Amino acid sequence: MPGKGGRVKLMKIKEKKFVQDAFQRTNFLYQASMSILKNQPENIELVRHYMKSFRDIKEKKVIKISVEMKQSMCEHCNMLLMPGLTSTVRIRDNHRVVVKCLSCNSIRRSNTMKPSTKDQIKNADLNRKKRKKKRQKKKEKMQKKKKESGKNALVAT
Ligand SMILES: [Zn+2]
Repeated sequence: MPGKGGRVKLMKIKEKKFVQDAFQRTNFLYQASMSILKNQPENIELVRHYMKSFRDIKEKKVIKISVEMKQSMCEHCNMLLMPGLTSTVRIRDNHRVVVKCLSCNSIRRSNTMKPSTKDQIKNADLNRKKRKKKRQKKKEKMQKKKKESGKNALVAT
């Protein structure tokens, strides 16, 4: 008879197997729907079915899924969102990404990172240095021109 600790260990191993299994299944469903969308776009309902079971497994087993996977799925009609095929992607105000599902016309907005103030300060510093260099170059050029014109004037007299 295994002790209490042994039973806990067994449970943990079983849990691990369950999670692993769920990962494998979701991964397979995701890849299968991707390839169907690419190779047989007329089978769009099959993709929806696969993505629906993908979602069911994800919600039943409570597993974490990468952000890219999560964002490439329509929450309203369980469609796999592929830019150009089943969705359109637009950028608004330079930092807002708007993804529109073409089968149910739902819209998802997400903010990309705005440049932080630290970066802005850094960029401003860099720009100032660049401008300074440009000014110096201009000055040098002007001085050279002046010298040359002076020489010419001397030659003329
Ligand atoms: Zn949709």
